[in-house]
Amino acid sequence: MHHLKAFFSELSGGTGASQASSSYEGKVPIHELSHVPTKAWEKMKVKQTVKDVDPIDPATPISEDHIRFVCLSDTHSRVEKLEGFVPPGDVLLHTGDFTQIGLPKAVEEFDRFLGEQPHRAKIVIAGNHDLTFDMNLVENRRGHLQSQFGIQRSKFEDILEELKVKSSRELLKNCYYLEDSGVSVCGVNIFGSPWQPEFGDWGFNLPRGGPCLEKWDKIPDDTDILLTHGPPIGHGDWCFSGLRAGCVELLTTIQTRVKPKFHIFGHIHEAYGVTSDDQTTFINASNCTLRYKPLQLPIVFDYPVPDGHSKSELDNFPKNNLSQ
Ligand SMILES: [Zn+2]
Repeated sequence: MHHLKAFFSELSGGTGASQASSSYEGKVPIHELSHVPTKAWEKMKVKQTVKDVDPIDPATPISEDHIRFVCLSDTHSRVEKLEGFVPPGDVLLHTGDFTQIGLPKAVEEFDRFLGEQPHRAKIVIAGNHDLTFDMNLVENRRGHLQSQFGIQRSKFEDILEELKVKSSRELLKNCYYLEDSGVSVCGVNIFGSPWQPEFGDWGFNLPRGGPCLEKWDKIPDDTDILLTHGPPIGHGDWCFSGLRAGCVELLTTIQTRVKPKFHIFGHIHEAYGVTSDDQTTFINASNCTLRYKPLQLPIVFDYPVPDGHSKSELDNFPKNNLSQ
């Protein structure tokens, strides 16, 4: 959200800090209009393919030679009590914003909800709203969390103590949590990253250009399914304000280096849906609408089980990765 802030930031060409830090030499070039993404897209789109895709019906029977992925995103503590919201499948993905401001009680409730889901593998990344997962904010900008988001000691540190954990992340016991890291499911390589171009000084925000690209440079070349919280430019990123919020260098990384089969994300609630550039299928899986109503149903897709693998491997998928 925070369209006005994004709008004014774009009008002024981004912050000084953004431009000063663009000197990073990354694995792909930084676009000259990286800091004004709507303008960048106007230039880029003449050479781009963007096709709308109809996702498969979640009621389609699940086959033995395909892995059924179920995508959740931006649930914002609004789906935990909804009966039958999550369709059946093999792997449950969540691309961030499971809470409103990352309070431990909300994380605990989300984890309980995850524990109730029958999917054999559950993989989660954080989003800008899951503020207490951003350890830079927690450790170095604690005052910002209190003054801007009202996160007082009584709602955060005291609750962690009561729950006998040291961080919010330790409350996710029913999923495999990714943060600039990956995991393989039946030979399918999945990589997750919570970062997005700055958006009102929330969690996992970075200036456009070099700082974002530094994170995308960590995505391995052999990634099959990419999870990020924010969209790339041009796919699932069109905001109600009329501006595009996607990251230019994320699209360049996807199209010229990583070439994943699927890219799942959320963040821009009103841009829910599926598109393709004929190489990658882009899924904006946001379940909440612009006004935070959980009315956008989970999107599912099937991925062929790679040669030499079988879905029985799902039985051994770790319940969590807390010990790593
Ligand atoms: Zn959201």
